[in-house]
Amino acid sequence: MTDQDTQQTIRGKPISPGLAEGVTYVHRDMFHLVDMPVPIEIKDIDQEFHHLESSTATITEDLLALATRVEQEMDANLAAVFEAHQQMLNDPALKTELRTEIRENLVSASSAVKTVFLRWERRFLDMESRMAQQKGADMRDISNRLSKALAGIRIHPLEQIPPGSVLVASRLLPSDTVFLSQCSAAAVLLEHGHAGSHAASFVRAMGVPCIADIRDILTRVPAGVRVLVDADRGEILLRPTETDEARFRNKTADRRKLLSMAGQRAEEPAITQDGIAIPVLANVGCRKDVESAMQNGADGIGLYRTEQTYLGRTQPPDADELFDEMRRTLDPARGKPVCVRLLDVGADKPLPFIGFLAETNPALGRRGIRMQIEYPRLMETQLQAILKLADDFDVSILIPMVALPHDIVTVRECLDRIGAEHSGTALPRLGAMLETPAAVFSIRAMAPHVDYVSFGTNDLTQYTFAADRENAAVERYFNDSDDVIFRFLRIAHDDAPRMPLSICGELAGRPMHLPRLLQCGIRTFSVTPPLIPAIKEAIRESSCNKDLMPESRKAD
Ligand code: PEP
Ligand code: MG
Repeated sequence: MTDQDTQQTIRGKPISPGLAEGVTYVHRDMFHLVDMPVPIEIKDIDQEFHHLESSTATITEDLLALATRVEQEMDANLAAVFEAHQQMLNDPALKTELRTEIRENLVSASSAVKTVFLRWERRFLDMESRMAQQKGADMRDISNRLSKALAGIRIHPLEQIPPGSVLVASRLLPSDTVFLSQCSAAAVLLEHGHAGSHAASFVRAMGVPCIADIRDILTRVPAGVRVLVDADRGEILLRPTETDEARFRNKTADRRKLLSMAGQRAEEPAITQDGIAIPVLANVGCRKDVESAMQNGADGIGLYRTEQTYLGRTQPPDADELFDEMRRTLDPARGKPVCVRLLDVGADKPLPFIGFLAETNPALGRRGIRMQIEYPRLMETQLQAILKLADDFDVSILIPMVALPHDIVTVRECLDRIGAEHSGTALPRLGAMLETPAAVFSIRAMAPHVDYVSFGTNDLTQYTFAADRENAAVERYFNDSDDVIFRFLRIAHDDAPRMPLSICGELAGRPMHLPRLLQCGIRTFSVTPPLIPAIKEAIRESSCNKDLMPESRKAD
């Protein structure tokens, strides 16, 4: 018997939970196909220029239409990506390089696109900053699109996936995620991408099981084989036997039963075995997320990421615009507690109206609260809008990327000053995100200035292991459930036992870690909306007091 027909187990990192079965569909992007440059004659140059121009115009139109559709139906953040693609595609320097390639090397427009885009992609990937790395992925996405248009293909390969397939790919590009939402894949298996990446948040928000970090996936997992995917454990069984299938069917039925029970009880509060009510809130970025949060039984909003209101604008919103946008987004959650995070942008996510702040290491530069201390007007506008919101909503505020007690004191002073000018009710509660080791170790010094803290374990992991969240090359260092991270939580609890502790990083959404998080003193969870019912259920089976915990759920 050969590998071709034997059953085989492959492991990876679970990034979106769930069980799924199906037949594999392998998605290779165009650069995996080796093709030789197609030579042309001098007399054909103008024809190739024309071909390139008309395809660029077609794609420009497609991208603009896609951006509008995505903004209306899905996510304004993702829509901004397609607008940016359209601008990159029409970059004059890129256009000149493409024409030079055709004219000087006498190659077809398609060959020029492959060579020039690959060159640009490599240039970006060789740069240090996360933004440049992301641009590398964007270049590949645009070039795939343009190559297909030149070949007369306007259909995205993911549009052709048979429904219910298990998608196997090296990584997910931004445009893939749009088609993925329509093709109803049963599960996604990836070589690159981890819990903190853009693709990961997207598949989780859609509720599609996903396992990533599977080395050499395109050679190890062939197309057209039957697989059983356990994305709770990160296991894929290729070519299962009858016995495996039967066992998996039972497991799926048990899980479905549990989920349906959890769904029915999602509206109810989550109370631990020892009688402690644990609020389960939602992480959101747009109104659609807030609607999904309410449908999934969220007890409120634990993290409203406000970045998309600012990105891609030429002028910052004023307090009234910001207030309107916040109220429109949060409206479905009216009557429940909502927590607005102050703007978390920085040199890696530049604001056009501030200008690009060149920094060799943007993740360690002017991010989050640091940017607002430098541009106090940004902070004031947000606090004015939030105070207005507090007339109608039960609002609290979260400060991102805190490293020094002084970061919080600055916000506290600004809030007190603006609050004195506002004739509304009491000031909103103020919280600090614990996303840097320094913030965790400073919790005692911070305690007098904040009402609560929330662990942003995505960034805490990045800064603890010195491993960029988006960099596939250091994926194995990025482990947000390592003992080291739990030690940080424990230290914060021991140092400030009366401080209310929340968690809003991705770690909060994995039921297997829940008992340990409770034992570290976490009393509020904030997760992506589809995970709320399962997290509430896991809380109901757990206990805050380790001695009362059922044996099967006791954490070490
Ligand atoms: C975090 O860092 O854990 C977090 C919740 O914030 P974000 O993912 O938006 O950086
Ligand atoms: Mg963060």
